[in-house]
Amino acid sequence: MNIEQLTLSEIQQSLRDKKFSSEELTSAYLARIKNFDASINSFITVTGELALAAAKQADALIAKGGNLPSLCGIPLAHKDIFCTEGVKTSCASKMLDNFTAPYNATVIEKLNAEHSVMLGKTNMDEFAMGSSNENSFYGACKNPWNLEHVPGGSSGGSAAAVAAGFAPAATGTDTGGSIRQPAAFCGLTGLKPTYGVVSRYGMVAYASSLDQGGVITKNAEDAAIFLNAIAGFDAKDSTSIEKADEDYTRLLTDSLKGKVIGLPEEYFSDQVDSQISKAIEDAKAVLEKQGVTFKSVNLKTTDMAISAYYIIAPSEASANLQRYDGVRYGYRCDNPKDLEDMYTRSRTEAFGEEVKRRILIGTYALSAGFYDAYYRKAQKIRRLIKEDFEHAFASCDFILAPTTPTPAFKIGEKTKDPVAMYLEDIFTISVNLAGLPALSLPCGLKGDLPIGMQLIGKPFSEAMLLQAAHQFQQATDWHKKMPSLAK
Ligand code: GLN
Repeated sequence: MNIEQLTLSEIQQSLRDKKFSSEELTSAYLARIKNFDASINSFITVTGELALAAAKQADALIAKGGNLPSLCGIPLAHKDIFCTEGVKTSCASKMLDNFTAPYNATVIEKLNAEHSVMLGKTNMDEFAMGSSNENSFYGACKNPWNLEHVPGGSSGGSAAAVAAGFAPAATGTDTGGSIRQPAAFCGLTGLKPTYGVVSRYGMVAYASSLDQGGVITKNAEDAAIFLNAIAGFDAKDSTSIEKADEDYTRLLTDSLKGKVIGLPEEYFSDQVDSQISKAIEDAKAVLEKQGVTFKSVNLKTTDMAISAYYIIAPSEASANLQRYDGVRYGYRCDNPKDLEDMYTRSRTEAFGEEVKRRILIGTYALSAGFYDAYYRKAQKIRRLIKEDFEHAFASCDFILAPTTPTPAFKIGEKTKDPVAMYLEDIFTISVNLAGLPALSLPCGLKGDLPIGMQLIGKPFSEAMLLQAAHQFQQATDWHKKMPSLAK
């Protein structure tokens, strides 16, 4: 069994055909994690025993036959931002290193109801703040394609785990690019749904108006299958969208003939690596053969997006992270002198540098004297960004753009310069500010590093984005390439 190649749809079929059992498959993934993850560091927690127990239960269901849930018996990895009952949920922070979640996130509940199998919790940037997975209390995660490079962030562990063949698919979250950018850096398909499609209940909050859960998979078909399992209205999340469930696989096999794809002028500037531009040109030629036409569009606010995001996201983060006070749960400093000392030292000792930087920026931007100058202005820009997209979508079905300006950079390359790190998010961040769905899919290689391209859609157009990605993947095999691992 070549587990590293297996897709969700292949596993679904093989389990039903009894080619292997869920227990055998789960054991094989656990063995592969044991053999290879020491050099990659994609998992914070491996839940081997729980996984084998869940696999046995799934096997019993499969043996009974009948109508099985779609992901029954399929092993998956989860970003350590999703609360998992009885299992450590750290968000890659010292603050939550001792935290065992007392309940499941809705995403996890849904996957449990499907009888999928959780292999473990994946590494990430602390509280999802970062673009490289270097801001983790548990150490950086490495890119399986080249261990000197980052896997991207903040869902770096999830992407690295799927690229390394430790799991066929993984959950992620995307506040400003954290699903799409690591998917691009690791040669995978990553989908960030429309804000409100996937419940945020039990997903540790970073910036609540931007955070959205999604999936990292080997291809678009798998992303559609996985999204079907986790999407849907949830009364426990007040920003969840109340709409009928849909089947995200329904358009996969439809032709793209007649679709108009917008190319934002601002996203094809000379800041994009020339090999990425070339890979996207090649991808356009493939899509053109499938009957699409291209149209230039403008997203004039692109150069303001990073500034607006890095006011809004830290502002929300500064409020969300106030709950970590050493009182109720999480880290508490030793021998506090008094209450004030306990608050101060608990937070000082347990938050990493980037998290502190964001709390400072956010608190400053929200303070009485600066609220109008920074926060209110950033919200106005957010509105303009949304309008820019609406305008662009008046003349195209969806947008094609690079996911990142460069392929995966080296570990340590940008850690000294936070602004250089923030600029990594230039092509992904506007999408979150506008609440839109977007996905990244592989479209080339630069040396040994993958290149990703991004499809951005109107609200609730996930099925169409998945269709476009699937059609592209029928004509190309970038999504089938895998790194070879060394111990
Ligand atoms: N890199 C961005 C940040 O640091 C986005 C992170 C994310 O999407 N969670 O905020």
